[in-house]
Amino acid sequence: MKRRRSGYSTRAIHGNGTTPPVGSPVSYPIHQSSTFVNPIGSPDDVLYTRYGNNPNQIRLGEKLAALEGSEDAILLSSGMGATSLAHMAVLSPGDHLIASDWIYGGTKKLFRDEFERLGIDVSFANPAKSDGWKQHLRETTRAVFVETPTNPQVRVIDLGPLAELCKSSGARLLVDATIASPINFRPLEHGADIVIHSATKYLNGHSDVIAGAVAGPSGVIERVRELMKMWGQAPDPHAVWLVERGLKTIAVRMATHNSNAQAFAEWASGHPKISKVTYPGLADHPDHEWASRLYEGFGGMVGIVVCGGSPGATTLLRNLKLATHAPSFGGVETLVSEPRYTSHAGQSAAELVKAEIGDGFVRVSVGIEDVSDIISDFESALNNQ
Ligand code: PLP
Repeated sequence: MKRRRSGYSTRAIHGNGTTPPVGSPVSYPIHQSSTFVNPIGSPDDVLYTRYGNNPNQIRLGEKLAALEGSEDAILLSSGMGATSLAHMAVLSPGDHLIASDWIYGGTKKLFRDEFERLGIDVSFANPAKSDGWKQHLRETTRAVFVETPTNPQVRVIDLGPLAELCKSSGARLLVDATIASPINFRPLEHGADIVIHSATKYLNGHSDVIAGAVAGPSGVIERVRELMKMWGQAPDPHAVWLVERGLKTIAVRMATHNSNAQAFAEWASGHPKISKVTYPGLADHPDHEWASRLYEGFGGMVGIVVCGGSPGATTLLRNLKLATHAPSFGGVETLVSEPRYTSHAGQSAAELVKAEIGDGFVRVSVGIEDVSDIISDFESALNNQ
């Protein structure tokens, strides 16, 4: 008989787990130990936290695999660690990577500066062009990387055609789905091979940890584990425990992020001092149709353009009392930042124009406070301009 699969909130709390025995702690303890007592004279794997086989690391990997629907998953010490090792697992010197143009600035820097240095060729494709991907395809293309939704314009990329292109050319499709979280979108269900997360964001959800994750086929995850042993991006057990603790509430957090961001975006759309609002839940967003079809929620990220350009944005940021001016996103608290100084710092003027990060653009990570308080904070901050 086919076993009934539990829902995503249940998986986030229990994984595919069984009932714990009498006397065991309901909250899984932190195994804050670098090393473990090993059997003498045994060829078995040594238990050592840098090797990724600490019980906290293994348990959370299993839970994430249950959420993403992957064979296996692994936690790393940061989202950047996850992105770099996921690619290293499938690429070698001489290989070619096609990366989306619409990605987190740190990832772009990694590809542009480091991958080129390691002998991996990278082409950047414009997802807005229908043949944007195909025109970059080479004999040596072994991987395609996209972020969806994108940071900071919250563009939603349809993975279907990309997955077909990858299958026909023998390339792997890697997707950074940090902004969606597995509650809103699971890329493996849409043809992706590997999913990457900055667990720093929605997976943890409390702005108190830096961590990353990769989910995918067992062979790829095993290779990431081998690389992690050598390159050293293993997460600390306490960080893993914090991510697991945060993950338990991801479904309810995402539901509130989704509804708060929708209400905030609708309010902002009607405000005379905001000239543009980018949110996939709005009918005028270029990807609203895709997003409605593919996603189970539009997420918590909203882009706004404040009238008056940079000085207008600065005044808004100075006047806000509840929303905190800080980089990052995905925590329970509302955060605001100007991507030109944070996620996309150091990019050329041309690159910023391409990424539609113009004067006055502010990224809002809408938190799970009462939405009336969030809106009232922005209303007062704009009225005081
Ligand atoms: N992926 C996305 C979409 C991000 O926005 C970030 C960081 O902001 C990262 C990856 C890198 O994550 P971390 O800061 O955990 O290394």
